[in-house]
Amino acid sequence: MTGPVWAARPLPLAPGLSEAVWQSRIVELALHLRLQVHHETDSRKTRKGWPDLAIAGPGGFVVAELKTDNDARSKPTPEQQAWLDALTAADVRAYLWRPRHWDYVYALLLHLAHPNRHRDPATDPAFPQEQRP
Ligand SMILES: [Mg+2]
Repeated sequence: MTGPVWAARPLPLAPGLSEAVWQSRIVELALHLRLQVHHETDSRKTRKGWPDLAIAGPGGFVVAELKTDNDARSKPTPEQQAWLDALTAADVRAYLWRPRHWDYVYALLLHLAHPNRHRDPATDPAFPQEQRP
């Protein structure tokens, strides 16, 4: 393979996909890469706001709140934003991921799984600035 890894992502995402489908794309990729993945399947009995996904591998640990690309309608709740802010302040990599960040997510999951083979897009100067979450 030649060129940057995010240029070789497996498939483009359909426009306007739901948060549930967006989540399943990420979880499928993470499991394929043999990362540890936690996601809430029923959040009704938990306190509000914890991010949708927690992912860990040899390259690190991240959490992500997932939203759709419709920024106006799909926004973090105050409880979700409070968790993202608190985790970031505690030096946890906490993200808000929308489908337009797919190239970044793809590159980051590859890095989490194989840190010696794939660069972290957060610190890779070649990764396009406008595609960063
Ligand atoms: Mg969400």
